[in-house]
Amino acid sequence: MSTPAPPAADESAPLLPASTPIDAPSPARKWVKYALPLVLLPLFLIALLLVLLLPRNPAPLLAKVGVVDTHIDLPWLLRHYYRNDVGAFDMRGAMPGHVDIPRLKKGHVGGVFWSVYVPCSADLGLDDGPEFLTPTYRVRDTLEQIDVTKLMIDEYSDVFAYATSAAEMRAAMGGGKIASLIGVEGAHQLENSLGVLRTYYELGARYMTLTHSCNNAFADSAGIGATPTPLHGGLSPLGGQLIHEMNRLGMMVDISHVSDATAIQAFNVSRAPLLWSHSSARAVHNVRRNVPDSILELIGEGEGKKDAVVMVNFAPQFVADDGKADVKAVADHVVHIAHIAGVRHVGIGSDYDGIPNVPKGLEDVSMYPALFDELRTRGWDDTMLAGLAQYNLLRVFEGVERTAAEMKREGVKPVMAIYAKRTDL
Ligand SMILES: [Zn+2]
Repeated sequence: MSTPAPPAADESAPLLPASTPIDAPSPARKWVKYALPLVLLPLFLIALLLVLLLPRNPAPLLAKVGVVDTHIDLPWLLRHYYRNDVGAFDMRGAMPGHVDIPRLKKGHVGGVFWSVYVPCSADLGLDDGPEFLTPTYRVRDTLEQIDVTKLMIDEYSDVFAYATSAAEMRAAMGGGKIASLIGVEGAHQLENSLGVLRTYYELGARYMTLTHSCNNAFADSAGIGATPTPLHGGLSPLGGQLIHEMNRLGMMVDISHVSDATAIQAFNVSRAPLLWSHSSARAVHNVRRNVPDSILELIGEGEGKKDAVVMVNFAPQFVADDGKADVKAVADHVVHIAHIAGVRHVGIGSDYDGIPNVPKGLEDVSMYPALFDELRTRGWDDTMLAGLAQYNLLRVFEGVERTAAEMKREGVKPVMAIYAKRTDL
């Protein structure tokens, strides 16, 4: 049986009745045609203004140019919480304090100088004696701090890359790892010996602070709270030799913690650029640990100036009056240092894990982007922020390396000076 074919569609038949006026819009369509652009245009202009005026998210910049922090005290925390046992904690999980791998990643950290800190005797209720000759365990303890730092870097070698030069820092960061370097926090950790300095350099230390909060055989300190009575009026003669030897080695001379006289003399003595690994601005918050404008003015490229970088400290007591330290107050220090010393001379040295309290909004290493965000609202562009993140520090480090290379070419010999008060040599 055959089925009749369906009727062919009559293509000539109108789809709408002939009476429907296709071209004449209904009243509602009229509204859409004329009123909608009138509504959309201001919305478009507002959106354009927001895009132009509102701060952009700092994350894209920091994803490319990670934050280098020149002062984190995690090794000290590992000593106290875990007795230096790298099997006793897991940095991939939540750590006590301000630092662990998830938070380092969230904060876009590109590099860290891990501080291998050992306290001044007075902070342990001990006394070095008037001439710093009472034996201590400081060299042993510093070696243990270096050891635990290296064990930690090894344990998480998929995340951290040990580095001892600016080139190695750049390579580590280029490979997506956190460049990990070592800084010694005080020449008291030398036990008066330049031989110990050279050995610390061999073990990887790439900066040393001239003092912690106590005077030592090399230099006077600013103290913390009470200012110690100056012993040398700045640097001792051996302190001058120490700086010369650090220049020769290529170890950054760190003048955080030192007295103003020590800092000024370091500017005169050091052939290489200088570092403040963790210091803020005294004009913003008046404490002796912060750098005064008169010294910030010595920084720069011009006549009578020297290259240096001030890495801003987040410790609330150095940032603002009690209860007032927050991300805006830290930004005030960054902006002030940039204003007086120049925008190429400021960086970040938080002191995380070395400070019991933290500013509001900068609670741990995951929060650096908040500081960059704040600076964007104050007109800082990508170039300024990238300098703050790492390039200003890298330039100073490379300057220090260049000086060491020059001194090597000149055939400058190691300093053989011995602390004059020693009787055993
Ligand atoms: Zn410190």
